[in-house]
Amino acid sequence: MEPLKTSSFSRTSPSPASPRASAAEADLVVEGGRLVTPEGVTEGSVVVRDGRIAALVAPGGPLPAGPRLDARGRYVLPGLIDSHVHFRTPGLEHKETWENGSRAALAGGVTTVMDMPNTRPPSLDTASLRAKAALIAGRSYVDHRFHMGADPDHPEVLAHLDPAVATSAKAFMAGHHTAPVVFREAHQLEAAFASAARGGVRLVLHAEDQHVFDLLDSRGGDPDTYAGYEPHRPRSGAIVAVAKVVQLARTHGTKVHILHVSSAEETDLLVAAAGEGLPISFEVTGHHLSFTDHDTARRGPRTRLSPAIRAPRDRERLWQAVLGGEASTIGSDHAPHTVEEKNRPPAEAPPGLPGVQELAVSVWTGMLARGMEPDTAAAHLARLMGTGPADLFDLAGKGRLTVGADADLALLDPSERWQMSAAHVESLCGWSAYEGWMFTGRFTTVVRAGRVAWDLARGTVGEPVGRWLPGPALPAQDHLRTETPAVQARELEGAVR
Ligand SMILES: [Zn+2]
Repeated sequence: MEPLKTSSFSRTSPSPASPRASAAEADLVVEGGRLVTPEGVTEGSVVVRDGRIAALVAPGGPLPAGPRLDARGRYVLPGLIDSHVHFRTPGLEHKETWENGSRAALAGGVTTVMDMPNTRPPSLDTASLRAKAALIAGRSYVDHRFHMGADPDHPEVLAHLDPAVATSAKAFMAGHHTAPVVFREAHQLEAAFASAARGGVRLVLHAEDQHVFDLLDSRGGDPDTYAGYEPHRPRSGAIVAVAKVVQLARTHGTKVHILHVSSAEETDLLVAAAGEGLPISFEVTGHHLSFTDHDTARRGPRTRLSPAIRAPRDRERLWQAVLGGEASTIGSDHAPHTVEEKNRPPAEAPPGLPGVQELAVSVWTGMLARGMEPDTAAAHLARLMGTGPADLFDLAGKGRLTVGADADLALLDPSERWQMSAAHVESLCGWSAYEGWMFTGRFTTVVRAGRVAWDLARGTVGEPVGRWLPGPALPAQDHLRTETPAVQARELEGAVR
């Protein structure tokens, strides 16, 4: 990794002309860490004022007075973004509360989450998202944005979505326990793609095909062992769905982000589609990088997931996509269930696991186990949980260690070895699929909005004052009439005929 050019640092020169000497004092100085900036990884200090990064100072440069946080021996990452969590509010608070979920986020270096809409009731319009924000106010330790739910019965909502409330909508192409709102009919999905393109909305998709699963169920029925789970929800369902999504994106020009890609075949299709210039990106989860179907067969319900955990060769292809820059984001798909729910018979146990706390350290551990240099691994983490999701979802001020950005910082001890146990779990569910794992790397301090929000010794520090992040303002031109080139071309074609 190249050292950062000194010119990228803004020197905090003392300003004798300043009328207020105290103005030069910092609210916080994070001193002597290894800074992970978009330009590179290098030694330096971070000066914080008014909740923002005021300066990045090279070693030996002048530092203002103010409280110190010692970052020696640690990476200073931008506060990480997990763009895929299910914090279960409203209606499913027996599985998770926003307080617990956001504490788990901080413990995992995450200061911003994007929450999913499959709650009870689901969030299928802007009114329900505003109501959800009101419920969460004063209960979150991290900043948050919501993915709205795409409603199969009202796809037109997507054409007029207020970007200040949401810029993305989740569509389920297959159902499961907490996903009752499913696009079953082809015409519904087509209408959603057309409306989302018209409204400039990014569709985030659970891409498994319900028709493939129904067909298989009509022949095989439910599995009675966890070893039979992957064959019960096979890769064919995911591959068929991804192929449909690619075709619809090509027709309508819709921006799409495929969640939790699980197989080598989906990855190859999506990489080819992006190479064609389609506005398609994808996410890989921590658990699809950490486990294989051997774990599900051996250990049962904890890694029973949707999409299923697949074969070792799939895991290898997913790692390749993550480290080769093909995947834009990694997400936890943090989806807690109670131990009692997970221990039901295979056909009744809900898919999902908690993961916002484990995501970054599990991927860090995986990268180092692959022989990667820590600086390179840090840069990958800052892309996959920083610039990647920030750019995709217009999270202004997030995901970058740069002057002017929000002062959200995650300090990572890169080499501490520690064993995860249930006692570490901050999620209300109280269990982790990673119990017994030896992790390399541990977050020691997390800063949100310029204040220490969490540290390893004390847990959460301060009040749950995380903010609901507004979306970008409407563009100056009439945004609702903006059509994609694909749609314009089709209309032109129609006019000529
Ligand atoms: Zn999910």
